[in-house]
Amino acid sequence: MSERRYDPKQIEPKWQRLWERERTWEVSDEPDDDRPKSYVLEMLPYPSGEPHIGHLKVYSVGDAVAHFHRRTGRRVLHPMGYDAFGLPAENHAIKTGVHPRESTEASIRSFQEQFRQWGISIDWTREFGTHEPRYYRWTQWIFLALYERGLAYRKEAAVNWCPQDATVLANEQVVDGRCERCGAEVQARQLEQWFFRITDYADRLLDDLDQIDWPEHVKTMQRNWIGRSEGAEVVFRCEELGIDYPVFTTRPDTLFGATFFVMAPEHPDVPRLAAGTEHEASAREYVNHALSESSEERGDTEKVKTGVGLGRTVTNPVNGEQLPMFVADYVLMEYGTGAIMAVPAHDTRDHDFARAFDLPIRRVIGSDEQLPYTGDGPVTDSHPDFDGLGNRDAIEQINAWLDRQGKGHASINYRLRDWLISRQRYWGCPIPILYCDSCGTVPVPEEQLPVVLPDVRDYAPKGRSPLAAAEDWVAVACPACGAPARRETDTMDTFVDSSWYFLRYCDALNEQAAWDPAVLRQWMPVDQYIGGIEHAILHLMYARFFCKALSDIGLLDVQEPFSALFTQGMITRDGAKMSKSKGNVVSPAAIVDRYGADTARCYILFIGPPDQDADWSDSGAEGVHRFLARLWRLAAEMAEQTQPAEPSAEPSGAALELLRKAHWAIEKVTSDMSGRFAFNTAIAAVMELLNDCYRLREQAGAGALRFATATAASLVFPFAPHCGAEAYELLTGARVWEEAWPVADPALLERDTFELVCQVNGKLRDRVQAPTAATPEELKALARAAPNVRAHLDGRQVVKEVVVPGKLVNIVVR
Ligand SMILES: [Zn+2]
Ligand SMILES: [Zn+2]
Repeated sequence: MSERRYDPKQIEPKWQRLWERERTWEVSDEPDDDRPKSYVLEMLPYPSGEPHIGHLKVYSVGDAVAHFHRRTGRRVLHPMGYDAFGLPAENHAIKTGVHPRESTEASIRSFQEQFRQWGISIDWTREFGTHEPRYYRWTQWIFLALYERGLAYRKEAAVNWCPQDATVLANEQVVDGRCERCGAEVQARQLEQWFFRITDYADRLLDDLDQIDWPEHVKTMQRNWIGRSEGAEVVFRCEELGIDYPVFTTRPDTLFGATFFVMAPEHPDVPRLAAGTEHEASAREYVNHALSESSEERGDTEKVKTGVGLGRTVTNPVNGEQLPMFVADYVLMEYGTGAIMAVPAHDTRDHDFARAFDLPIRRVIGSDEQLPYTGDGPVTDSHPDFDGLGNRDAIEQINAWLDRQGKGHASINYRLRDWLISRQRYWGCPIPILYCDSCGTVPVPEEQLPVVLPDVRDYAPKGRSPLAAAEDWVAVACPACGAPARRETDTMDTFVDSSWYFLRYCDALNEQAAWDPAVLRQWMPVDQYIGGIEHAILHLMYARFFCKALSDIGLLDVQEPFSALFTQGMITRDGAKMSKSKGNVVSPAAIVDRYGADTARCYILFIGPPDQDADWSDSGAEGVHRFLARLWRLAAEMAEQTQPAEPSAEPSGAALELLRKAHWAIEKVTSDMSGRFAFNTAIAAVMELLNDCYRLREQAGAGALRFATATAASLVFPFAPHCGAEAYELLTGARVWEEAWPVADPALLERDTFELVCQVNGKLRDRVQAPTAATPEELKALARAAPNVRAHLDGRQVVKEVVVPGKLVNIVVR
């Protein structure tokens, strides 16, 4: 017998070639069977350089789910594509002159190669990159569908401008007043921009969260981002200038306690209010200072409150009082109307401001609580109609009263803003719009799609899109009147590309339409979506919005794209995020080269619960490698033997013990994978089973051993598909992926013995098999008789014996 050596470099390509040749993972849109469908999807990768360890993790998780679903009787769609437009490739182009398409496609090739080496079970017929005209043609078509419905619109808006990248940033891309990408301080600019009207969907985006199986913390992040609050809009009037200032408040019950009025520094009326007064210079100076601060600094509740008076007053509509106006940086333009009524008795920040500026503080809720008091209580000193009411009850009555008086009304405010999609950049999907002097804004006719992104020589942004330099492309005849017109030169935010890719996978080869609704109905919604927590807000919110908008337009029937969501944790090394600068990067290519793909995949799932962060260890990977090697070796050795393969009909002794272990492992792995992602404990169960295979290999008999080893191969297949397939074939001659998932025999799960843990003074000293039916006295006797317990009792006095039935005996001695 030749020396047995587990050689992934032989085994893995062999199975990959077979799966590719036989197109094993392709799935038809016209099934000839009635198995239920399962759409398993990992977030598509952004191709930049080579895949990193996070990619290995997310696709190992997704592939395990896909295999489990297939073998438990489902028809599985498991596709792959690339989120290929975006800034990194463009910035690379600016530095090197290499066309972003070239660097992106080189990266895509590297991803493709590695995905194949990892043995991920992808239906490759559906693959695309979002930068391909055959894809973005339909991105443009969706833009036009939204435009026709008034859901895409253009307006001049103050935008976040990154001077370094020379582009507009979405609010979400501004972190602490700085550009998320390059860290430059963000400036404000006015530009004509395209928006999607996501705010129309705020309530549905909120309400429908209740229908989906997502982690609660992700739902909370979405709810906070939408930021719905109920209250009232109340109009305060500046009589001197004849201007009305609507204010949103969640606390109309405190209206009678307002003692001043504050505007955000960005409020467009601030210069006009201060103009010609003695406060003009100080207001201007203050506003300039405030704009240079980050919103985090400004929102810091500990910060000493600053502001300046405007020398004007507004009338409190409920009591006619004149309230002095201030401008202060603790009021944010993004929230509500950018102006607030200040109630220092019942709002902490207003209270701080009032103390700093020596303004009156008037209690209107409760009686003797310390101020500021933000809790509930009876209304006082307000109005005879409301005094004495509980403040929560008073809100409704005050809102009705405001309405009757024409001074306000109940209102709902959202933090969510419309989605700014214009980017003054090159490497993105062109916006299919023309501007004509006589016709105005003209959508590109559908039959002229795609508007193909032209090649340019200079990618460097100059405050306008690099596309503006492509004169031949920009100048075009107006499709309505034939006069010379100009193309829109902005491109779309890449989040638009990734907001519908999961729809295209369902019908990726359709050249006549983005999808056939009947085909879409076959697959949508995605049954299990898997990706990083960093996409908890934007990508997921935008994709949900697209589904709702497209279903309103009548283009699909699903309201929610992702029925279930799993967010995986990060892989760190030496406790830190992997980065080139720290020199702690583990590259998937190097790991696969050293140990094989099965070890890499299996270890990354074994390392810990996959929703948690986990730290990479080489010795851990080696342990998993040894486990797979032992599985393969046992299978290979048994393949050469010719004993009967079936376990005996009435097994006993070691054979029974091993069969019980196999059924226990089936039960454990099945439960760990059914709607859960406990891959780590599932793999640990297979390891335990394999240990027993080795421990009992001599006594159990060939039939039981073969069954148990084949079961281990079958159960490990979703995590280590090549090794699992190889070992299973060696033992049974069959293809494991064509086999139904094993089902545990309940008769073999019932145990008449259990492993009794024997402790002395709380320390584990031995384990013995004990009858399930044993009495506590019998268990104590068994424990005392265990050899290693006897050794620790020798010459000492037993003080107490604690019995936990079915588990342990602890003997306390001194
Ligand atoms: Zn930047
Ligand atoms: Zn025209």
